[in-house]
Amino acid sequence: MTFKNGPIWALGALSLLLWPLYGLTGDFDVVLNNGRVIDPVNGLDAVRHLGITQGKIVAVSERPLAGHRVIDAEGLIVAPGFIDLHSHAMTAVGQEYQLFDGVTTALELEAGAYPADRVKDNLASVALINYGASVGYLWLRQWYLSGHYQASLVHRPEASKSRDVGWASYPPRSVFTQVLSQEQIDDLVQLLEQAFARGTGIGLGVPIDYLKQGISEAELKAVFSVAAAYNQVVFIHARRMPVGDLGGLNEVIELALDSGAAVHFCHINSNALTAIEPFLQRVRQAQANGVDISIEAYPYEAGSTQIGAAAFRGDWQTLYGMTPNDVVWVKTGERLTAQTFHDYQTQDPNGYIVLFSNTMAAVDKALLSDQTLVASDAMPAVDAEAKVHPRGRGTFTRTLHRYVVKQKALSWSEAIAKMTIEPAKRLQALVPAFASKGRLMVGSDADIVVFDPLSIQDRATYDDPDQKSVGMRYVLVNGQPVIDEGELVQNEKPGLFLPSRAPSQ
Ligand SMILES: [Zn+2]
Repeated sequence: MTFKNGPIWALGALSLLLWPLYGLTGDFDVVLNNGRVIDPVNGLDAVRHLGITQGKIVAVSERPLAGHRVIDAEGLIVAPGFIDLHSHAMTAVGQEYQLFDGVTTALELEAGAYPADRVKDNLASVALINYGASVGYLWLRQWYLSGHYQASLVHRPEASKSRDVGWASYPPRSVFTQVLSQEQIDDLVQLLEQAFARGTGIGLGVPIDYLKQGISEAELKAVFSVAAAYNQVVFIHARRMPVGDLGGLNEVIELALDSGAAVHFCHINSNALTAIEPFLQRVRQAQANGVDISIEAYPYEAGSTQIGAAAFRGDWQTLYGMTPNDVVWVKTGERLTAQTFHDYQTQDPNGYIVLFSNTMAAVDKALLSDQTLVASDAMPAVDAEAKVHPRGRGTFTRTLHRYVVKQKALSWSEAIAKMTIEPAKRLQALVPAFASKGRLMVGSDADIVVFDPLSIQDRATYDDPDQKSVGMRYVLVNGQPVIDEGELVQNEKPGLFLPSRAPSQ
């Protein structure tokens, strides 16, 4: 909706059209004037003026608007807030870093949670940004086998004050390595049906690689079939294979073909490593054959996990073509040796490692493909001092700085689409709320970033991850400024938990 005859006419028309939407003053709650508005859903890239009331965008005008709070965005880019499909940083600290990276919705879809709304444990009443989780199959399986609840990677409220956020040794690893009987698989299918019927999750998270010692083909087929029956998207960390081996991707595609389930392949950069081109080709081929598959990547050459993860049991060095010297122990920053790798894995299996396993040339190919969404894989962030991979702090601003500003390989609109409308489209069949996110149209949720294109940049590094990105001047979540003139607004917690719709079946 645009207005050509001046702000007074515009406000008058809005009073008539939108009176119930914006209260009795006849004024907008917040106005963003003079910004370069980029909204990839409709190709808009022009100076526009946004009127926001009660958490919604209610005017997109060609003329400046008036309101209770008027923000002058001249010289700044105004875009939809970024949607991160893959964040394990489900804490207030984690959200604060992501906010400065422009993320207004961060979702734990790969590992998920069980029950999905247990992510509220750490975030209810303190959420700066919107959040939600998939039904986490790993946690469901663990609960079924051991009776131990571990709702998500950050599984207990007290974890927000502690660094003990591990999953590899709590409870016993056997719950990940146990092969199930048909009867047990049937039980799990029933529990999944109940979880989908509750409707609090966004899809199903199945980290096959972390379960690879225990999960059978029969179990996987059963799990994918029930996801398909409930129209869920399956978010997958696929089996890691030697570089160039497409087996992990092929397995996912075959499961999708067999079951009819829609699938999302997490961090294709870290599964494909330098063999990214054949991975991208295989995905295209599958899409051409009717498989509903989407992919994501983050713009760093190193990966990160816990040293006790299944991927680093057995002969991982031959499998991935790596040595312990390619691995950094994040608590100390030291490169490992065969001995120290073994020692840490035995004594501290939950400790994080950063793995220098890829090249930026391959990462660039992953991010620049028009198929690829941007998602951070942010690691659990429990306090500012804990050293973690920088991707939870800088993925989105690094993508903008690297590919738009420095390399000029993507337009602003192309890069922004990968973090806004494309993830929103992936989720809107699961959760109706996403039909009004990732966009700046009249009626859209007012999740908005306003940033300086000249200074937007990540700052976090492997050595010094405790650095917020720079360049975000204003970030609005549900219409509420949470970054204001570049600073965090204290005491505003407008983030909402995003539940799924109740499924049709
Ligand atoms: Zn993963």
